[in-house]
Parts: sequence; structure tokens; C-alpha cells
Amino acid sequence: MDETLRRIPWLRIIAGAAAILVLAAGGLIAIWQTSRSRDFQLFGELVNRVTTEEKVVALTFDDGPTPRYTPGILAMLAEQDVKATFFLIGNEIVANPVEAQAIVAAGHEVGNHTFTHDDMTWATPWSAAEQVEKTDAAIRAAGYSGEILFRPPYGKKFWGLPLYLAGHDRTTITWDVEPESDDDVAADPYRIAAHVTDKTKPGSIIIMHLMYPARDTSRKALPLVIAGLRDRGFRFVTVSQLLALRKR
Ligand SMILES: [Zn+2]
Repeated sequence: MDETLRRIPWLRIIAGAAAILVLAAGGLIAIWQTSRSRDFQLFGELVNRVTTEEKVVALTFDDGPTPRYTPGILAMLAEQDVKATFFLIGNEIVANPVEAQAIVAAGHEVGNHTFTHDDMTWATPWSAAEQVEKTDAAIRAAGYSGEILFRPPYGKKFWGLPLYLAGHDRTTITWDVEPESDDDVAADPYRIAAHVTDKTKPGSIIIMHLMYPARDTSRKALPLVIAGLRDRGFRFVTVSQLLALRKR
């Protein structure tokens, strides 16, 4: 102990309090970094991209389904002959069963994106169970029979959610290509397409949001994204197909 600190008690108190604050801040930063990481979680399997030599890529669409945009998105994908993966929100499936059934009937993969789209950073294993299982039930009710992958809202998780998922042998899927995260890119369909074509590697997982009114540029970008990746020799697969490739 430094002599000055020993002689002046209030200095010791301040030094102690400062040390606790620094530790607490460090802890909070660590939690924040862990919660938002795209390629790490504390428990269970998380996949943000698959390592493969094959030029395959998975298009994933989060949120919804919404009545306003689902038919147009499905028509576009059918026209382009692309199968995608939709991470749907449980309460929106319940509210819009016809659209959920249409996604399933068109042969796309459906994943679980929680029931209420809450930030799951502070979820307990029990609240996570409710979010995941209610959504699974809604997905099954829409006629989906494949394995149900999981994606946390905003990609956020800390301990309770991963602990629950690991205990139930569920894989968490994030992404490695996110054109909408840069406002300049997201504002222009051609910039979105250029960003995706530039950043996509074999085995990449692309995230886009198409289900709400604010995402007009993303919807306009989708055919450009598909054309740009095809020009580079990429083939589109679902996330499950991507995972199967890795296991070979
Ligand atoms: Zn979402």
C-alpha cells in the first residue's frame, strides 16, 4: 500500500470506490460485448457462417410474417427460383397464419425468432423457454416439419437464452453479411447489392429485413442481390442445407 493512501483514510475510500467502478464498468463492457457478438456465445452452438469451399450462400429474412409484404417476397423468390430462410416472430405467425403457411408451402426454411421479439440479453432460461416454445408451436401449426433453427432478436443473448438452447440441442444462427447495418448502404438498393456481393464468402449467411414498410430499399435490392451473387457463381441454399454441408 502506498504511504500516502495509508495516512489519509478518505483517499483509501476514494481509491477503493474507483477500483470497484472500474471493475463494474469492465464487467458491463464484457457483458455488452458478449451479448452483441455475432460469432460467440457462452453456451451451445452458434453459427454465423459455414466454412466451405463451395460457393453457396444462405439468404435469411428476419421478422414478420406480415400480410402486406409476404406475397410479394414469395413471388419474387419463386420467380428467381431461390429458397430462403425466414426467422419469424411467434406472435406475428399467430396474427398472420395464412402468410406463415404460404412461406412453409413455398418450401422455404422457417426459423424461430422468439414470440415477442424482446432483447434477450437478460432473459432467464425459463423466460427463454417460453419465448422459444410458444414460437415453435406456432411454426408447427403453420405446417412446418423441418428442424427449427433459432435466431435471437438483434442477435442479442447473454446467459439464460444460450443455456436454455444448449440444454435443448438447438443451434443459434447469426450472420456475417449485414447490408442494412450501415445507413448509407441501406439507403440505396444498388449499394445494398454491391455491399452484399462484395462481402459474401462461400458459406456466408446474409441477413435482410423485408417485412415492414420502412424496408422498401431492401425489397428493391433483393433481385439485385440475387443477380449479383449469381454473377459471382454463388448458389442459394437454406441455412439447414448450409449446416449439412459443414457436417460432411
Ligand atoms: Zn428481428
